[in-house]
Amino acid sequence: MSISQDLFKRASELIPGGVNSPVRAFRSVGGTPFFTKSASGSRLTTVDGQELIDFVCTWGPAIHGHNPPRIKQAITEALEKGTSFGTPNPYEVAIAELVVKMVPSLEQVRFCNSGTEATMSAIRLARGATRRSLIVKFAGCYHGHVDSLLVKAGSGAVTHGHPDSAGIPAAFAGETRVLEYNDQEALEALFATEGDQIAGVIVEPYPANCGLILPKDGFLQKLRDVCTQYGSVLIFDEVMTGFRLAAGGVQECIGITPDLTAMGKIIGGGLPVGAFGGKRELMQNLAPVGPVYQAGTLSGNPLAMSAGIAALEMLLELNPYERLNQMGSRMQTALLDAAKEKGLALQVPQTGSMFAFFFSEEPVTNFTEVMATNTGHFSALFKEAMNRGIYLPPSAFETCFISTAHDHGDLDQAIEGLTEAIKAI
Ligand SMILES: *Cc1c(COP(=O)(O)O)cnc(C)c1O
Repeated sequence: MSISQDLFKRASELIPGGVNSPVRAFRSVGGTPFFTKSASGSRLTTVDGQELIDFVCTWGPAIHGHNPPRIKQAITEALEKGTSFGTPNPYEVAIAELVVKMVPSLEQVRFCNSGTEATMSAIRLARGATRRSLIVKFAGCYHGHVDSLLVKAGSGAVTHGHPDSAGIPAAFAGETRVLEYNDQEALEALFATEGDQIAGVIVEPYPANCGLILPKDGFLQKLRDVCTQYGSVLIFDEVMTGFRLAAGGVQECIGITPDLTAMGKIIGGGLPVGAFGGKRELMQNLAPVGPVYQAGTLSGNPLAMSAGIAALEMLLELNPYERLNQMGSRMQTALLDAAKEKGLALQVPQTGSMFAFFFSEEPVTNFTEVMATNTGHFSALFKEAMNRGIYLPPSAFETCFISTAHDHGDLDQAIEGLTEAIKAI
């Protein structure tokens, strides 16, 4: 038995499924997860000594690769002063100034500890500010494990929500409407009937938790327009895309301004941080100035804030987005070539440093189409890639990430390995 297998056996006795976040359990690709001993730059080293080129990058946060010296140093310096104060600290002001400067729609921001807290709080704020209760989301978009957001549609049309998880009262899910992403007509129809009861719409502007879906022309602008028309709060969940596709996230790339933005992942430089922000007028509804309660014992934690400051400052100084996009595009071309040679129907949606695999004849534009892709091929690819020292996300419904620590040598090696892996499927 390998060291990973032994650890997993012990973990499974004490921790449900052996993991503290379900997708880590490798259930959708089969086999047991490896445990990581250490990580540096573009690579993970498992407890059994295998070195892997990492395209999961801690599921998004590690845009600078693993354990970058500057973030390590920032944490070490903060650590000297104490780990938690329970009072305001100077790092909170510094990171708020940075984030408001970087993200176009932000006038004010509140920090919390995870992406889930950020979306949960943004929704509460939308409801509190509008005094309405309905929330609209899109099938296949993941916004963390918030009760009213763990709901997806059946097919195509608007459905009254059915929860995806046990433990969510039907009444909660009933306050959520689910639409198919990219379906402008369904969006207009929903607003025409219930628009004056809709507190807000939450969307991953580029859905990246069911593979990677890109918007059709005009879709996000239409969303902006109906929210403005009906006085509903438009929430961009940029927990994944924020600071990754541009310093200001998708909203900067496409020039559409949401009312609220949820952030997470990269913003914490590898420590647990979430944030949400937007128009001052909306944010002033939060306690202690307004009636919408939101709080956190460890929110604004000095270690987490200092890691986040270092991560964001590095992005501003490096401006790595063009280079990351070139690498993403190189990956896309190589993967498509490999699939073509093998005669496999593969789509590789890519934007910036994000790319995904859809084994499908046609481009994938919504969740129904995602569910129709060949996930068996993905599981086979995952295993073949692992055997060649390349770590892809252990699920067909995730996005791959490239970090600034990946160089063209890493990409050469990965492309060679993935080309062989595709041939071996
Ligand atoms: C990861 C993610 C979340 C949840 O963030 P956690 O920090 O895991 O709670 C929310 N929204 C999106 C778009 C995400 O990718």
